[in-house]
Amino acid sequence: MSELIISGLKATVGGSDILRGVDLTIRSGEVHAVMGPNGAGKSTLSHVLMGKPGYEVTGGSVTLDGADVLAMATWERAQAGLFLGMQYPTEVPGVSLEAMLRASFEASDRSPADVAERVLVEAGRIGFDEKFLTRPLNVDLSGGEKKRNETLQLGVLAPQIAILDELDSGLDVDALRMVAKRVKAATTEGDQPLGVLVITHYSRLLEELQPDHVHVLAKGQILQSGGPELATELEETGYAGYAEDTPADTGPVEFDPFGEPHGV
Ligand code: ADP
Ligand code: MG
Repeated sequence: MSELIISGLKATVGGSDILRGVDLTIRSGEVHAVMGPNGAGKSTLSHVLMGKPGYEVTGGSVTLDGADVLAMATWERAQAGLFLGMQYPTEVPGVSLEAMLRASFEASDRSPADVAERVLVEAGRIGFDEKFLTRPLNVDLSGGEKKRNETLQLGVLAPQIAILDELDSGLDVDALRMVAKRVKAATTEGDQPLGVLVITHYSRLLEELQPDHVHVLAKGQILQSGGPELATELEETGYAGYAEDTPADTGPVEFDPFGEPHGV
């Protein structure tokens, strides 16, 4: 069993405090959904967890089975069992999906002998057309195809904990169902069930994924946690209750005759 513990995590990007003390624990087999308004810091959390350059951790800790994740290079985090499905997957010209997966296996001392076979099995499970498998990684794929490609990699690599940033964006209803079903299956299959931290705006993904816990990330913190019913509630009410302080909250804005026109 694996356990990712995020404790009091604070981080800045571009000089702004974006994460202001995030606490979250994800264990094998659990599905945690993180929802929240645009700009709340959801993608920032995913990038900090995976160690993307440019994000400075200013406080708190992240451990995976007791090991200090923040002290690891990104590739070490991947080897330790963390997987990130990016909101905007990167195109890697010149590198095939299979070559990338084989390299991942070899780097982890796993035999890459059956990678090609695994890729085909996983493509079938999520209805991913085989013609995409021979293209350079993510190159010329639509947004939805990239998300399926990420899910395929997740299936082949079988990590301990997956962070999935807006897995649903760009996917049509049928693709969404298949992808969510695949991820859900990974949380129960095998002797190392997957732990999932999924970032989403929509409860449709969650209908299939059936999260155990739903959290609201706003103002750089987890402001509320609950069960699946919280996602339904948020779909109806929106994030008005969690809004960032607007200039109207901090006092009247003075009229600037030389400023940009407003309200257009
Ligand atoms: P979310 O995924 O919740 O919509 P993000 O984590 O992408 O939000 O962004 C949180 C905030 O951090 C936003 O205000 C965004 O503009 C800012 N931000 C993200 N990346 C950078 C960066 N590289 N430089 C400056 N600001 C950034
Ligand atoms: Mg985002």
